Amino acid sequence: MDEVSIEIKENRFMHELVSPGDRFLINMIRDFVDREVMPIRKEMEASTRGDWKLVEEVQRKLVGLGFQGAFLPPEFGGWNLTSALTYCVILDEFGRSEPACIAPMGGGTWAFRPAVFAGNKTILEDFAPRFLGQEPYVACFAMTEPSGGCNIENLDMKGKGIHTRAYLDGDEWVINGAKVWPTNSGIADVYCVVCNTDPSLGDDGIALIYVPVPAEGYSFGRFEDKAGFRSSREGDFYFDNVRVPKEYRAAGPGEDAKLLHDNLIFARLFSAAWAIGIGQGAFDDALAFTNERKVAGKPIRQHSLAANVLADMAIDIQVGRDSYVNAAYMYDNPETYGPRNSKFMLSRSSLTKVFCCEAAVRVTNQAMELMGNYGYGTEYNVEKYWRDNKIIQLWEGGVQLGKLDVARGYYDYDQFHENDLYDAMQKMRSG
Ligand SMILES: Cc1cc2nc3c(=O)[nH]c(=O)nc-3n(C[C@H](O)[C@H](O)[C@H](O)COP(=O)(O)OP(=O)(O)OC[C@H]3O[C@@H](n4cnc5c(N)ncnc54)[C@H](O)[C@@H]3O)c2cc1C
Repeated sequence: MDEVSIEIKENRFMHELVSPGDRFLINMIRDFVDREVMPIRKEMEASTRGDWKLVEEVQRKLVGLGFQGAFLPPEFGGWNLTSALTYCVILDEFGRSEPACIAPMGGGTWAFRPAVFAGNKTILEDFAPRFLGQEPYVACFAMTEPSGGCNIENLDMKGKGIHTRAYLDGDEWVINGAKVWPTNSGIADVYCVVCNTDPSLGDDGIALIYVPVPAEGYSFGRFEDKAGFRSSREGDFYFDNVRVPKEYRAAGPGEDAKLLHDNLIFARLFSAAWAIGIGQGAFDDALAFTNERKVAGKPIRQHSLAANVLADMAIDIQVGRDSYVNAAYMYDNPETYGPRNSKFMLSRSSLTKVFCCEAAVRVTNQAMELMGNYGYGTEYNVEKYWRDNKIIQLWEGGVQLGKLDVARGYYDYDQFHENDLYDAMQKMRSG
């Protein structure tokens, strides 16, 4: 039998773009994933229908690697790990295993980037020690609401989709509202809550406020059940006159909106990389399976039809990877490419997210087709990759808002652009 793969893994990334430090991390994570996650990924997923023990064990081991507080600035004990490219290459490695197992620990980075970029000393002083301990300390970026997620992400809506209200009462913010679906719902120790202080203020009304729990007035509903991405937990929770110090707002009017948009752009980048990692897992399995299994007298992959499919899969994965590396590099270098929260960066991050997720959908489908029954059955992993990937495509704007956001980088797209025929149509309808 031929060697399964002759790919030089080190050359998946251009050395000029991915630093030696990031390469060191890639190898460290690859080793962790191979040793601690790959052998138990199925049992781990199964444990999410029971006691969650294996997910929690892996979470503890990840905390042991020292990453939990890595996003913090050095003066607060962290490694200043804010590079989008670094997070992307890490998530690419997790994709092929049980991709969601990094979510409980990774939530800290996403939820606390606004406070880090705002340089909010009170928040960093109060919470940094908790992230630096040996025990898991879980955070959640709480944006999505029962009335929808995309309306909050949509630039044209200027905060109008946010129904969670916050008002100042003396030295405290008082928060009321509901959130649904955020990762780490119900298990988080602290939430970064996307609120609105006054919808008439537009972007100035958007407020990112940190709420440690338990807190009086905070309550949790139930966990969602879902097809894939099972090692992360999502659910619904409620704020009924929850009070926190006024310093727990990330920055202030106008600035919080920019931090929100920045965080969404960051999430589109890491989502793209996560999806490519999942596609890579499906490709690896298909490459091995089609080497072993024979049809019409020779290994499947020695048939030109199959080689053609495998080539299409490789093209999707490598073009996707190149595209997220480029976009993340631009995001990390605002002095050259402009502000991280610009329309240009929103467009580039959305472009790579939409492409990589669609690519991974194609790749997981094609792996299943090449492997037939064994692709669909649970003995191999392709059906799992197929389930795990789909949600990445649906979150963070879904495909449709993602495409509108791509367009924003090329012309002044405005969902509420004046319609010349509006008055005439209204008249016609009423008359
Ligand atoms: C596993 C998982 C993890 C998640 N993690 C988090 C998290 O950590 N934090 C958090 O806050 N949320 C989280 N979410 C929620 C997720 O981000 C939202 O589901 C997402 O924003 C989409 O929102 P929605 O499902 O309410 O869709 P809707 O907003 O109802 O949109 C539905 C559809 O309409 C399309 N659409 C939207 N706007 C437009 C438009 N203007 N024009 C045309 N079409 C449009 C969308 O593309 C989508 O296909 C998570 C969800 C899941 C399943």
